[in-house]
Amino acid sequence: MREKSFLVRFVLCLSLALAGMLPQNGFAQVETDARPATPAKIRVLIVDGQNNHAIWPKTTEMMRSYLLESERFQVDVARTEPKGPDPNFAPDFSKYDVVLSNYNGEAWPEATRNAFEEFVKKGGGFVVIHAANNAFPEWREYNRMIGLGGWGGRSEKDGPYVYYDEQKRLQRDEAKGSGGSHGPQHEFIVQTRNSEHPIMAGLPERWLHTQDELYDRLRGPGENLEVLATSFAAPDQGGTGRHEPMVMVVNYEQGRIFHTTLGHADYSQECVGFITLLLRGTEWAATGKVTIPIPPDFPNSERASRRPPKVSSNVKRIFLGNTINPTQFENIIFAGAIDPNDAELFRQTGIRTIISLCKQAENDWDESEWAQREGFSLHQLPCGFPIDLPAEQLEQISEILSKASPDHQILFHCGQGGRVGACWAILRTLHQGAPLDEALREAAAIGLRTEPMIKSVRERILKEQQ
Ligand code: ZN
Repeated sequence: MREKSFLVRFVLCLSLALAGMLPQNGFAQVETDARPATPAKIRVLIVDGQNNHAIWPKTTEMMRSYLLESERFQVDVARTEPKGPDPNFAPDFSKYDVVLSNYNGEAWPEATRNAFEEFVKKGGGFVVIHAANNAFPEWREYNRMIGLGGWGGRSEKDGPYVYYDEQKRLQRDEAKGSGGSHGPQHEFIVQTRNSEHPIMAGLPERWLHTQDELYDRLRGPGENLEVLATSFAAPDQGGTGRHEPMVMVVNYEQGRIFHTTLGHADYSQECVGFITLLLRGTEWAATGKVTIPIPPDFPNSERASRRPPKVSSNVKRIFLGNTINPTQFENIIFAGAIDPNDAELFRQTGIRTIISLCKQAENDWDESEWAQREGFSLHQLPCGFPIDLPAEQLEQISEILSKASPDHQILFHCGQGGRVGACWAILRTLHQGAPLDEALREAAAIGLRTEPMIKSVRERILKEQQ
């Protein structure tokens, strides 16, 4: 009886599993990356838009990539206007588990500041990267969240200078002095101060970080602050001769904050130590737990370790109305689904031609009729996955794309970006002679994300290259 019910359940499970594998409407299997993230994924919002570090668009993209590659997170970006106060900056923080700041610029609108305070007070996570701790010197609650900050006129009025002394004691120096300084960039050792904390558990006690700025003399309220790791600011490197906080956590009402002063430039963020702390710290800020493992390429005390992101910096993430996953490579804009109401925005952006890989049934509106009415030249090349376009059609796409210019941009879209990314990788390698790895990094930035999809594209390219 028991065995029979097991068998019945087994058959039932099997048939359900098979039903799940079948296309529901003829194209449901087209893009395996189109599935919404499972609820288990942590929802991250990166805030940026202004920073005295001009490299910020790249570092945002890098951090986004590292978070996505871990498959533990889904990531959105909220960006302010590039200059001046942005009265319209009002992301809905409540949709996220954790906010990561790569922002160091003008004050946010008051309503946005209040909403952010509410978000963290109620248990939202917050991750502070490098110069994000330079931001908002006048915003009291922000400074309570970050614990310590630098520059922006910070001094003893903002709180003590916090450091470790040679006896491994945390010192809070109330003496007069300005907050925030660093010597020339160099590689330096990061030393764990609490190996029991979930973020630090299992990390080597000392490891060599790639070239970075070593922030010293940070000041702030430092309430409910724990320093998890420090680095020695060597006097011969323009430092204070003290052990300065590099990795910190702060409790702010119900919210958890992870703060690292590391991450000045792209080469600093390629450090596997930085990446590991970023992932584990973000997970901890969101959930209070850490499940992300320490990777085998983690640095040790003799050897720094770098890992470039898999996605390409040739392909930039952009914002384009309600368009899904828009990215840009020179004058080509890649995307998932588009919103017919964005026609005017497309024209203003310089888009004149649209290539659509969508099958008719994917839209509940008529793209062809819409393009004609709105004056876009539309090429419809319905395509499945694995990419099933004949060679002549790929040739045709290649030719259309080659005509892109600033006044005549081309929007190349599918449903989520996966098929477009796959086609791009094929065209870049077979038609333009780009190296396979670079093409796949670009494709990943465009939307070719899942391992089976990447594998199938890689295999196809290798086969055709023979
Ligand atoms: Zn910096």
